[in-house]
Amino acid sequence: MTALPPPSKVKLGLVIDLDTCVGCHACATSCKEWNAGGIAGPLTDEKPYGKDPSGVWFNRVHSYELAETDAGEAAQPAMTLHFPRSCLHCDTPACVTVCPTGASYKRAEDGIVLVDEDKCIGCKLCSWACPYGAREYSEVEGVMKKCTLCVDRIYNENLDETERQPACVQACPTRARHFGDLGDPESAVSKLVAERDGVALMPELGYEPVNRYLPPRPRRDRGGLGDDGSTAPDAVTEATSPLHWLGRLLRR
Ligand code: SF4
Ligand code: SF4
Ligand code: SF4
Repeated sequence: MTALPPPSKVKLGLVIDLDTCVGCHACATSCKEWNAGGIAGPLTDEKPYGKDPSGVWFNRVHSYELAETDAGEAAQPAMTLHFPRSCLHCDTPACVTVCPTGASYKRAEDGIVLVDEDKCIGCKLCSWACPYGAREYSEVEGVMKKCTLCVDRIYNENLDETERQPACVQACPTRARHFGDLGDPESAVSKLVAERDGVALMPELGYEPVNRYLPPRPRRDRGGLGDDGSTAPDAVTEATSPLHWLGRLLRR
């Protein structure tokens, strides 16, 4: 089993805005493009030109139709929610501690969780341990892979400073993805999370994910008018929040 380092001061991660994500998959394809040729490559493709292409994807975007919530509660018309899913670079991840060879590890200096493919024996214990489905097994190489937080971009001195960002963050056309130090309360990402009430996914599991999701802003139906012509309330209760629903879905 593999030990975790002491909690790092720097906690690099992503902040993903579910309000502005339009589900275009630009993040997923740019991630695949960069990482297929980077330190984590190659990334297997299965049926790339088939009806249902698959393979190793560090970032997957799922789209869900949410039904209208009951009238009388925080009124929420039916909506489409796009949910990008990648490693959350958890602070206390069992994907690391279950690893029998030390292949899965968390960096002490910035909290990034990585896999050393030379040490990986492909036992898949880590993918069983990850409740977020963020591990990706390569059938071709017989090793586990995952989001690297583009560690080979963000510190890459051969790139212009403005390009030292994860590929997915750079590619997002709606600026729904943000990267930075979530361990620093003064960082731009921490301030954004505070301003928009960003949340961690399923914190009750105790993995302490670093990434944060910004919930969709409340939608108003019929120009903001309720059945009786009154203004619909802005508040979204915990029970009706799309993120509450997402947590239940991931737990299945
Ligand atoms: Fe590990 Fe999954 Fe957390 Fe990533 S999201 S650190 S793979 S437990
Ligand atoms: Fe460790 Fe590889 Fe097994 Fe995952 S599949 S637990 S990284 S040896
Ligand atoms: Fe992919 Fe890099 Fe974004 Fe992770 S940070 S999802 S590896 S592009």
